[in-house]
Amino acid sequence: MENISSKNEYRCSHCNKLFFKGVIEKGEIEIKCRGCKNVDTVKINKSDTEDPPEEDLEKI
Ligand SMILES: [Zn+2]
Repeated sequence: MENISSKNEYRCSHCNKLFFKGVIEKGEIEIKCRGCKNVDTVKINKSDTEDPPEEDLEKI
């Protein structure tokens, strides 16, 4: 069973039009909105989106 819902959606911060969907670990993308012509910069840091580490497993 594939979990396709794990893809993130990236939207225009101005008009909320969908730019693209995907999974990006880290990067910075400049994209021009086809709806409102706003040029938006999407910054992605994997550490912002990944699940928090299960620190309880480290307990002795
Ligand atoms: Zn827009």
